[in-house]
Amino acid sequence: MTTDLAAPTTGAAASARDLVKIYGKDETEVRALDGVTIDLYAREFTAIMGPSGSGKSTLMHCLAALDTPTSGEAFVGGTPLGGLKDKQLTALRREQIGFVFQAFNLVPTLTAEENITLPLALAGRKPDPAWFDQVVDAVGLRDRLKHKPSEMSGGQQQRAACARALVSQPSIVFADEPTGNLDSTSGAEVLGFLRRSVDEFGQTIVMVTHDPVAAAYTDRVVFLADGKTVDELRDPDRDSILDAMARLTPAVG
Ligand code: ADP
Repeated sequence: MTTDLAAPTTGAAASARDLVKIYGKDETEVRALDGVTIDLYAREFTAIMGPSGSGKSTLMHCLAALDTPTSGEAFVGGTPLGGLKDKQLTALRREQIGFVFQAFNLVPTLTAEENITLPLALAGRKPDPAWFDQVVDAVGLRDRLKHKPSEMSGGQQQRAACARALVSQPSIVFADEPTGNLDSTSGAEVLGFLRRSVDEFGQTIVMVTHDPVAAAYTDRVVFLADGKTVDELRDPDRDSILDAMARLTPAVG
């Protein structure tokens, strides 16, 4: 059987085919990605884990059209990103991709509501009122919509950032350490919301995390090491994730 390495699998919201990313030149050269082939399936919550420097951010940035690979191809919704011009990439990021960052990245002078609808406003679109209401209720921010970020807790700010990522109904949401700045209770609320948005709204979420408790909320954990995918778990729990992490870490001493 031959596999067409250039084509994404049906049902993949985003895919990478033999993705290589090299930073620097000659003796300073770093192979951040060393031939990653992966499908991130629609309506699934996937975690990407791996030691610091293993290429997690680089992979996410290449898949989210924020960085370009040295070779190989990244696809979003079956579209190869390599063939797109800057304007088309901007439109794709705006229409098909949602982002949640560790540092929330809300605009401090805008209310929660204005922050949530900002990506749509920038795209010249209006929110679908029924969907907006559903998302706001799901993140539990109905009574905080008129508040500025400084008047909200970290957990509330991150839930507003999650709502902002979902309100445009993107094909895929990339979350980079979304609970990295939160206490465990607020982190659990954010992860619970991300889980529900997959189960109840059919969203697709890819989350980079170091935290086995956070990764246990997902359907699938993909492990990277040295710019390669090296392991994968289905229906993970905290213990199976910790076991896989231990297998990845070379014995010390
Ligand atoms: P992770 O997210 O798993 O910590 P990264 O994707 O950030 O890993 O980095 C992978 C490797 O690429 C690391 O060795 C890192 O130092 C290197 N790297 C990342 N970004 C750059 C850059 N802009 N310039 C040079 N090297 C980089």
